[in-house]
Amino acid sequence: MNNIVKTDVLIIGGGPAGLATAIKLADLLKENGLQKEILLVDKGANIGSHILSGAVIKPKVFSELLPDVNFDEIPFDSKVSQDEMYILTKKGKFKMPFHPPFMGNKGNVCASLSEICRFLSAKATEKGVQIYSGFAMSEILYENGKVAGAKCIDTGIDHHGEKMENFVEGSSVFAKLTVFAEGTRGSLAKKLIEKFDLQKDKNPQVYSLGVKEVWAVPENTIKAGEIYHTMGFPAMYDGVFGGGFIYGLSDNKVAIGLVLGLESADPTYDVFKAFQIWKTHPFVEKFIKNGKILEFGAKTLPEGGFCCQPKYYTDNALIVGDSAGFLAMPALKGIHLGMYSGMAAAKAAFEALKKDDFSENTLSIYKKFADESIIYNEMRKCRNFRAGFSKGTIIGMINFGTQIVTGGAGFFGKLKTHSDSSETKTIADAKKPLYKDKSAKFNLDEPYIFNKVDDVFYSATMHDEEQVPHLQINNPKSYNEINIPKYDAPCQYYCPAEVYELHTDKSGHSELRIHAENCLHCKTCDIKEPADGITWNVPNGGNGPDYKNM
Ligand code: SF4
Repeated sequence: MNNIVKTDVLIIGGGPAGLATAIKLADLLKENGLQKEILLVDKGANIGSHILSGAVIKPKVFSELLPDVNFDEIPFDSKVSQDEMYILTKKGKFKMPFHPPFMGNKGNVCASLSEICRFLSAKATEKGVQIYSGFAMSEILYENGKVAGAKCIDTGIDHHGEKMENFVEGSSVFAKLTVFAEGTRGSLAKKLIEKFDLQKDKNPQVYSLGVKEVWAVPENTIKAGEIYHTMGFPAMYDGVFGGGFIYGLSDNKVAIGLVLGLESADPTYDVFKAFQIWKTHPFVEKFIKNGKILEFGAKTLPEGGFCCQPKYYTDNALIVGDSAGFLAMPALKGIHLGMYSGMAAAKAAFEALKKDDFSENTLSIYKKFADESIIYNEMRKCRNFRAGFSKGTIIGMINFGTQIVTGGAGFFGKLKTHSDSSETKTIADAKKPLYKDKSAKFNLDEPYIFNKVDDVFYSATMHDEEQVPHLQINNPKSYNEINIPKYDAPCQYYCPAEVYELHTDKSGHSELRIHAENCLHCKTCDIKEPADGITWNVPNGGNGPDYKNM
């Protein structure tokens, strides 16, 4: 018999959206004299361990979520003091004379999102929320066909699936209301969306992969609050959507990263490699060449926007933050929207708790609250932005221009997106030269360049050896017959942690080897692998990266 826990509200995920849900709900309950339990669980070893973002944040949401907290108390790193955008050519650069609409950062702040989440977690705990990190929820519990909570992963199982002496069945947490706040491509949110067809009549979500490093640099390399965004090299030369960021932080640190769309047709496209190549550009290199790397990480971002969001409520359940696609392009900002979505969800949860009615009908008020907040205005006016770039940067810029003058509609109505996995072409059909051949020409011998395995070291990633591998090839037979010979096993390229290795023996037989212990939980494999695909499941609680300043 496994351990059974009962609570009123279960929140799965301790990112900004989940924590904002917890804080706002705890306040509403206190203000109205209602006694209810809120339990928040997170799969990271500590709150913040699995949190990664640029991050330049719109700070107003914090004064709305925590009106009694002095702003100086919030661990923002620095105010944005200089904000410039450059188009990079192969060796040169052009400074943009102005920021394209929605892309300016006046009044915003630089921060480590891991640190912000630790702060929010402390505030939530003060308000009576029970927070447990290191608990990985692997299964949604249902009663009478409706969500009834979630179950923690069983531990003490070897990699063949056999129970060991230390086997412990995961606790079942039953809740009146379950809030899915697992971040990008949440593994349970994905199952929930599929089971209840919550993506019906919506565009498929499209994602980018962001790869980031934090460096310690000599004094006067960059000021805290000095930020740069880049477009152009190298992605534009590869026909890939996206760009880079360089954020000056306090204590002589700099955060650098490249965020690129995952719709690439080339099955050998490799965002991590593009990031290392970007670092060799003279404009980027100057910030890091005398520095020392401190931290590395990667995560995907749901970029599709308004038209790609699932319905984010159903009986007994709500979805918040990145799991529900609350992110606004072109600013590439989701933190404040995730928090606003959490606050809107908390208001809906409060109404449901008051009435003791958790039906979809009652919870649908979440959408009303979200639409009444800043979310609707920010996301709707760029609803076609990302889809407009699906046919390349030039067409994307033209589309963007028409969207600006029409309040987001553009001249062609709602544009369509296609899932990133379906965009992947076979080796035979992909444009030549392939990225793996093209990128091999770059000299990547500089001391500030890393290979994937060496960079993973700086993410402090750890996984228990004895467990069922959390990465599942959905159809091993078709993988061997289709993905390896026809696509050259794309996961060996796009995975930023070299988890997947295609091993070919002397007879020419190839097989995929999976080094799950390196996994950064970025979810790219769950999103991008063509044909029958790969499923990312949660590993044991507390496993994965241990980000400190990401
Ligand atoms: Fe990301 Fe998948 Fe690689 Fe893990 S295995 S780092 S989730 S692509």
